[in-house]
Amino acid sequence: MNKEEFQKFFDENREKYIPGIFNYCDRWCERCTMADKCSLYAIEKEELSEPLDEMDPDNKELWDHLGNMMTIAMELIRDFAEEQGIDLESISAEEEMAEWENAKKEIDEHPLSKQSYKYVEACKAWFEENRAAIDAIAAELNQKAKLEINPSQTHAQAKEINDYLEVIHWYQFQIHIKINRALSPSLLGDDMEDPVQNDNNGSAKVALLGTNRSIAAWYGLFKYLPNFEDEILNILVLLEHTKKGIAKSFPNVHKFVRPGFDE
Ligand code: SF4
Repeated sequence: MNKEEFQKFFDENREKYIPGIFNYCDRWCERCTMADKCSLYAIEKEELSEPLDEMDPDNKELWDHLGNMMTIAMELIRDFAEEQGIDLESISAEEEMAEWENAKKEIDEHPLSKQSYKYVEACKAWFEENRAAIDAIAAELNQKAKLEINPSQTHAQAKEINDYLEVIHWYQFQIHIKINRALSPSLLGDDMEDPVQNDNNGSAKVALLGTNRSIAAWYGLFKYLPNFEDEILNILVLLEHTKKGIAKSFPNVHKFVRPGFDE
């Protein structure tokens, strides 16, 4: 797909899709209830041989697609700048990079960013240390299913555990990434931003949703792993602190309306 085809696609399907719905979602397309309203999902479905979130990161097709989308985005930015009379050449790449590096340092030092990164690390360490316990539970459930000891209940339990693990893994890094984006300086400048409907609150809301879902998943997993009470409670404390930190740093987070999802 090139820029012209991309624009034609949008023009022809304007009524069908919700503008910007993909900006404040969790990118879990496989489980998304709004996929039929999402133009990004439709493009990926047309362009890729399998869903993007299931693709192997080593798959060349994935990187070709992302590279192509980036090229189209750059061309659209250039067109927009030309229309608005903005001279992109006057923007110094070195100055931009230096500003970005400074902003990044400040974000990394922010207590909320540090807090959410603690969760990334705790989660990673827990899975590394306890992989054997999780595998043992899976093996036990498989064995029960083979012996047909209440197989429907066994399958339901196995599915439940798998669901909790999937949720935890999906949001493990995303919470921190979205928090860092939420802490990023506004591109428009604070004076130009809507106090509620801005990218910072939108990104914070996605981080908050991921945090809430992760809390629910860890509680669910705890039922099956009572021997890990202390460790799981420590992880839950990290998530609760993150949740409180989001609400404190972004007092309007709950008011932000995510296109499609909160309307
Ligand atoms: S809105 Fe749904 S389908 Fe579209 S990118 Fe987000 S998760 Fe995927």
